Amino acid sequence: MPELPEVETIKNILANHVLKKTISSLKIINRNTIDGDVSTFVNSLIGKTIIDLKRIGKFLIFHLNDEMILISHLRMEGKYFYYQQDQEQYDKHACVIFYFDDGSVLEYNDTRKFGIMKVDKSAEYLRHPPLSKLGPEPFNVGDTNALFAKMKRKSIPIKVLLLDQSFLSGLGNIYVDEVLYLTRIHPETPAKMLSDEQLKSIVDTSVDVLKMAIDSGGSTIRSYHPSQGIDGGFQTKLNAYGRQYLPCQRCNHEMRKIFVGGRGTTFCPNCQKNSSLPYVLGITGPIGSGKSSATAFFKDRGYLTISGDTIVSQLYQNKDVQKEIIKLFGEEVITSTLDINKNLIIATIIADPNKKRRLEKLLHPRVEQSVLELIKKTNKDHRIAVEMPLLFESKIADYCDETLYVDIKKDIQKERLAHRRLPVEISLALNAGFDAKHNKEKATYIVDNSSTLDALYNKLQKIIG
Ligand SMILES: [Zn+2]
Repeated sequence: MPELPEVETIKNILANHVLKKTISSLKIINRNTIDGDVSTFVNSLIGKTIIDLKRIGKFLIFHLNDEMILISHLRMEGKYFYYQQDQEQYDKHACVIFYFDDGSVLEYNDTRKFGIMKVDKSAEYLRHPPLSKLGPEPFNVGDTNALFAKMKRKSIPIKVLLLDQSFLSGLGNIYVDEVLYLTRIHPETPAKMLSDEQLKSIVDTSVDVLKMAIDSGGSTIRSYHPSQGIDGGFQTKLNAYGRQYLPCQRCNHEMRKIFVGGRGTTFCPNCQKNSSLPYVLGITGPIGSGKSSATAFFKDRGYLTISGDTIVSQLYQNKDVQKEIIKLFGEEVITSTLDINKNLIIATIIADPNKKRRLEKLLHPRVEQSVLELIKKTNKDHRIAVEMPLLFESKIADYCDETLYVDIKKDIQKERLAHRRLPVEISLALNAGFDAKHNKEKATYIVDNSSTLDALYNKLQKIIG
């Protein structure tokens, strides 16, 4: 989708071709491109000369003689093609054709047909929608305090607010992601949680990013190509958009894509922490290492604690989940007391890795969702400890400010597992997919729990200081 820098580039290229030209006739192929009455549109333009071409936000503004204005909004896929002379045939997506008195032709082409054109009077067009609804561009915000005060009354995510053109105009999806990446702000942060300093940095960074993009001729993203074969070179400089799964250019953490207000949003979960959320400590480690003991330590010190295993037990009570479990393991997985027969599940998944994967696919997203809901509804002043065996394999790791790996020596692990309900070899088989090396590399803290509970607590006490 063309954004402000692309529209600026298109404006500059078009200006070279159409300025001082007089429209001798018009062909309207797609009536819906025209906002308003088609014959009024055509009659207002025939015989008019293009005397200037400007851009406001993402709108192209053709200034014509007789104080007429032609407004063009390209929306998703609108493009202009210029020809020295009339063509025998135009593309099937051609919507409007302008014929100039020197024989040259301008084609407005729009595969999605969302773009619009409108005529208005130069004295009035700024007072009429859509331009009357546009907020200032980052280049000329004017009274920043007034803008910040307005932004701070909004509890919607900052990403959604920046896309709202009535607040600040000209930033679309690509550049909002870039600006939030550069300012290290999580896209879901409620606007009202941001400080004046952060808002100022958003405006200043928007100016830098848009200027750089204009200098490079805009970004060439999927559908968009500036006309006349000039490709925007800014895409290669983007840090956020299009970089899902790639390492963050700043910290090497894998970039993530989420949906904010229905729009795909790429960000670095490590550099762009959501400052409106409470502190989260993730606790992980192999089976029998004492994750629960560590979690209990933090609970005693006022942390709100969340256990992945407890959530799984709760999910087993959920009727919809039970239906899916029956599909996977058969009716016999439900006991006479209407509970889930966990022993049957354990025996089945140890023997059948495919069933294990399918069970994980069923449970993991639901566990993640439950944990995230708990984190998001907790007041920012609280601290949370989340205990999860597969923490680093889940999205929850993105929400952790710090992580703790509870380690244990192999022989001690076996000793401790021997006191549990399940046979040791079954416990170890269940833990087989746990990648200790990978987890240790990612953890903020590693604490060995091969000794006594007191020793563990002493080590944890040192961590929280
Ligand atoms: Zn990063």
